[in-house]
Amino acid sequence: MIEKAGLIEDCGMKNFWKGYDYCSEISIQQQSQQNCLCSGVPKEECGVFGIYRHPEAAQLTYFGLYALQHRGQESAGISVAREKDKIFSHKGMGLVHDIFDMEDLKRIEGGGGSAIGHVRYSTTGDSNLTNAQPFVVQHRGRAYAVAHNGNLVNAHILKNELEENGSIFQTTMDSEVFLHLFIKNLKQGNVIQAIQKAVVKIEGAYSFVLLTCKGEVIGVKDPHGFRPLALGKLNGHYVLSSETCAFDLVQAEFVRELDPGEIVIINEDGVQSIKPEKPLETRSLCIFEYIYFARPDSTICGKNVYQMRKALGRQLAKESHVDADFVMPFPDSGNYSAIGYAEESGIQFEMAMIRNHYVGRSFIQPTQSMRDFAVRVKLNPVRELIKGKEIIIIEDSIIRGTTARTRVQALRNLGAKKVHMRISCPPHRFPCYYGIDFSTKGELVAATKTQMELTHFLGLDTLHYLSIEGMLEASGVENPADNFCKACFDGSYPVAFDSGISKKCMG
Ligand code: SF4
Repeated sequence: MIEKAGLIEDCGMKNFWKGYDYCSEISIQQQSQQNCLCSGVPKEECGVFGIYRHPEAAQLTYFGLYALQHRGQESAGISVAREKDKIFSHKGMGLVHDIFDMEDLKRIEGGGGSAIGHVRYSTTGDSNLTNAQPFVVQHRGRAYAVAHNGNLVNAHILKNELEENGSIFQTTMDSEVFLHLFIKNLKQGNVIQAIQKAVVKIEGAYSFVLLTCKGEVIGVKDPHGFRPLALGKLNGHYVLSSETCAFDLVQAEFVRELDPGEIVIINEDGVQSIKPEKPLETRSLCIFEYIYFARPDSTICGKNVYQMRKALGRQLAKESHVDADFVMPFPDSGNYSAIGYAEESGIQFEMAMIRNHYVGRSFIQPTQSMRDFAVRVKLNPVRELIKGKEIIIIEDSIIRGTTARTRVQALRNLGAKKVHMRISCPPHRFPCYYGIDFSTKGELVAATKTQMELTHFLGLDTLHYLSIEGMLEASGVENPADNFCKACFDGSYPVAFDSGISKKCMG
C-alpha cells in the first residue's frame, strides 16, 4: 500500500516523496518531502540502465542512474532479480542521491544478481510515486520489470482496447500498455516472442530495458531509433544504458549502440541479438538529443555530443555573423555551441555569467521575493564584463521564451550596450510527441510569433536561429535527413499520431 505523505505545490513538479522498498510480493514505504526549482526550459525524458549478473548490481545501477540524472529528476528506481521468481525494488520521488542510501541498495541487492534502473521525467502520466519506474508485474508467480525511455503515441488507444477486454491499469503511464501486451502474449510463448508480439502493436518512441525474475536483461529499441540505447561490458558483465556517460562512471567499455528495431537478450549464453527482417529505410534518432538533452561527454550513434554542439555553434557563426565584444553562454545552456561560435567567428569567448553549482532543489520558495532569490542564486553576472559592451548570447533552444527574456533583461539591467542572441538549432514550431515535454503548439513561442515579434518580445537587438539545413550539415552524418527526427522544427513526423494524444491522455 502506498500512502501519500503530503503535496508540495511549486511550478509543475509536485509530490516529492522519498523512496519505498518492495519485492514483487510486498511493499514497504518511506517518505519525505522535497521541493524544487523549475525554469522554462525543455525537460528531459527519462534514462534507463541495466546490468546482467553482478555481485554489486544495485550499486552499479545506482552509479549508472547518477550519470543519467540529467534525463529525469522527478523519480528514480532500481529493480534487482536475485532469487527465484522474485524481483526486489526500491523507488522514490526526487533525485537519485536522495532516494537511495547504502542500506537500501544492499537490501535489494542481496548477494548480487541482475538489475535495471530508471530516472523519470513524466512525458505521459502524472508525476507521482505510482508512476515511478521500473514498473514490476507478476504473472503466474513470476515477476517482470520494465523501464522505458520515450513516448508511445498510440498508448491511449491500446489502453482503451485493453480495458474493454478486462485489463486493469495501475498507473497512468504509456509504458504500462507495453507490459499488458507483453503479459497477454506471454501466455502463448516465451519471453522474447511475447516482446516481439507486443512491439508489433505499439507505436512511437521507446528504448526499454526489461528484467525477468530469472535475471535476464533485455534491451529493446523502436524501429525508428528515436532514443539512444547502448550496450557495454564491465569485466565480462554486459550493461545497457541510455547514454555512454554511464559506462564511463561504472568503468564499462562501450560495445555498440543498438540498431533501430533491435532486441538484445543478455543471459547465461551471452548476448543474443534479434534484428528486424525488414529494417526501415530511414532512421529517426532525435536530433535534439545532440542539441540539448544528452550529456556532452556521451557519444550517440558514433557522434560525440560535445563535438556536435561545437559544430552547431560554428555553423551558426557562418550563418549569422554580427560584430560584438564577446560571445557568452548562460551556463550550462549553450556552453559548447558558444565555444564553436567564438572559434569560427574569431570573437572572444567569455563566461560572463557564473553558475552556482551548489543550488539544490530543496529550498522553499513561498513568496515572490523568495522566488526572485531562486532565480538569482543559480546564475550571477560578472558585472565588470557586461557594462557598455555588445554581447552575443548563445542559447541551445528557446521553447517558451520566458527564460531567454529574463536573461536578456538581466544583461540590459547591467548596462549591456547591445544584446544579440544566436540559437544553435532552428525555431521550435511544432510539438514533440516522442517523449519531450513540449506537447502543444501554444507552449512554443516560435510557433506563435514571427522572428521580428520574438526579437522585440525578448528585448534583443538581433536574433538568429540556425537553419534546418545548417543543423543537418553540422551533424557530419551522411544523408542526415534520412537519419534524424527533426519534426519539432519542420513538422514532418516520422510516426503518425491521432489528435487525442496529450500528457494526460492515459487518464
Ligand atoms: Fe526530438 Fe524534436 Fe523529434 Fe521530439 S520532435 S523526437 S524533440 S527531434
